Amino acid sequence: MANSFENSPKRYGSKGPEKFFRGIPVAPGIAHGEALVHWVEEEEVPFRKIQPEEMPTEIARFETALIATRAELLELQEKIASSIGAADAGIFDAHLLVVEDRTLIDEVLRTLEKDRFNIETCFHRVAEKYCRSLAAIDDPYLRERVVDIRDVARRVIRHLLGKESKAIGTSDRTHIVVAHDLTPSDTAMMNRELVLGFATEAGSKTSHTAIMARALDIPAVVGIPELCRHIASGDDLLIDGYTGTLVLNPSIETLERYGRIEVEKEEVEERLGTLREMPAQTIDGRRIILSANIELVEEAEEVLRYGAEGIGLYRTEFLYLNRKHPPDEEEQFKNYARVAERCKPHSVIIRTLDIGGDKSTESLDLPKEQNPFLGCRAIRYCLEHPEIFKPQIRAILRAGVYGNVRMMLPMISGVEELRAAKKIIEECKRELSAEGASFQPEMELGTMIELPSAALSAEWLAKEVSFFSIGTNDLIQYAIAVDRVNERIAHLYQPAHPAILRLIHITTEAAHDAGIWCGVCGEMAGDICLIPLLVGLGVDELSTAPSLVPRVKKAICSLSFVECQALALEAMSLSDHASVFSLSESHAQQRYSELF
Ligand code: PEP
Ligand code: MG
Repeated sequence: MANSFENSPKRYGSKGPEKFFRGIPVAPGIAHGEALVHWVEEEEVPFRKIQPEEMPTEIARFETALIATRAELLELQEKIASSIGAADAGIFDAHLLVVEDRTLIDEVLRTLEKDRFNIETCFHRVAEKYCRSLAAIDDPYLRERVVDIRDVARRVIRHLLGKESKAIGTSDRTHIVVAHDLTPSDTAMMNRELVLGFATEAGSKTSHTAIMARALDIPAVVGIPELCRHIASGDDLLIDGYTGTLVLNPSIETLERYGRIEVEKEEVEERLGTLREMPAQTIDGRRIILSANIELVEEAEEVLRYGAEGIGLYRTEFLYLNRKHPPDEEEQFKNYARVAERCKPHSVIIRTLDIGGDKSTESLDLPKEQNPFLGCRAIRYCLEHPEIFKPQIRAILRAGVYGNVRMMLPMISGVEELRAAKKIIEECKRELSAEGASFQPEMELGTMIELPSAALSAEWLAKEVSFFSIGTNDLIQYAIAVDRVNERIAHLYQPAHPAILRLIHITTEAAHDAGIWCGVCGEMAGDICLIPLLVGLGVDELSTAPSLVPRVKKAICSLSFVECQALALEAMSLSDHASVFSLSESHAQQRYSELF
């Protein structure tokens, strides 16, 4: 990808005041360049009445346009498959289904017969009717499909009008794309040499577009409200895909800060590469296991390339998204066994299904709830649905034969839930034994500590599992009552809040008293400002996004455990987030300034 600081115009702070926007970071990296605002161009759909004798011609034109659109999508899919992989190209399967959708095609033909309008008008009206009905349903999966249908509809209309399909960002200079939303095909068609990054108003970490951005390695921030109202093409922008920050008219100081990072980045990356084979160990010998989080089976390769010691969190729910039926035991078994084999001899911690909250899928019968994050999410859903839970547990136990697999339960609130889940796991083992199936009967079981009630029950939970992994993403949201996906209250989302420190402290102490290890797999584990604090609080493992592993390793290797313990002790006496954060951050700056 192009180096944004090399090629962008150096118009430091010359055009209006500096303005910061916060969004959701979905693909890491930093880019600086000029904005190119992408407005979705709706083709003018010409309207005319047709004569009965024109009907066959209109139908033939429609068929030709559908065939051409299908060919275009297949070509796009092939291009993606060869450049980034078959899994990402699979995103276009949904688009292809639209051009092959018999119900939609028949309705267009019926409209043509009934209304006698030109075929462009008939098709446009039917496609829009579909989109409006889907958009009205409160289901994130169906809303994603609206984006797919609109994308395909635009393509069909362009073919009917004899126009070329356009790739977005038609500029011959490097730029940062700003848009309300981007379709996966928009993202896939981005010229990686020219597009330095992108920022959108809509979107979430789990959208197809976000998945694609990570696969393409383009820094991206989504979910910035009303962004397009504030940015015009040509504006000076800086995008920080690590923290989800977008800066309009970055000041000299901001640019210098980010500029230094960018200039040193390659050097640092090179130096970090040399750490790949080294263990993550503090200068005074405290060993921390450093692993990575994955969402897709394909990411397992990357984990080892970045020098992680296995997978600390495999978010299996991604296997259940964007499909009509949940994966069966066999599909899951193959998937988990593949990850286990890739990771050997390191371990992979397979987390059982964490569906609900912000993750919804058509493949499961999920209740509509007023507060989904506080509702029937994760283990709660699984305990209610043994027909879904048991095939997954069986698949994980069977995959244990192919590598070093551990199982982990999400959203455990206390011992009752843990015991109920363990009872089902034992039942699965008995069934597998009776069937003569090969599986790992001694598989280690751990629990996530991501509810304050779990942290405060850690003493009892620790007696019943082999390890803990603290899910700070949820722990912070539930402890401070701050919705983790609501940008309006993002300033209240404070990892260094004294209450969070106490919850982490209680958890690590309880784990160690019971002789088990305790990791952190929330985003906090990848925040280099807070690593001195986590190390000092005694965590034994950190699990983070694969691309952050080298930096976290460098941080750990630059710290003294004894100093971090003293720092954590001092932090525990402070009353506010800002003081705790700056204490840890300034220690981090002293020990590994090159990472800032
Ligand atoms: C967490 O809550 O910190 C966590 C790792 O789980 P998730 O982000 O998948 O909810
Ligand atoms: Mg969580």
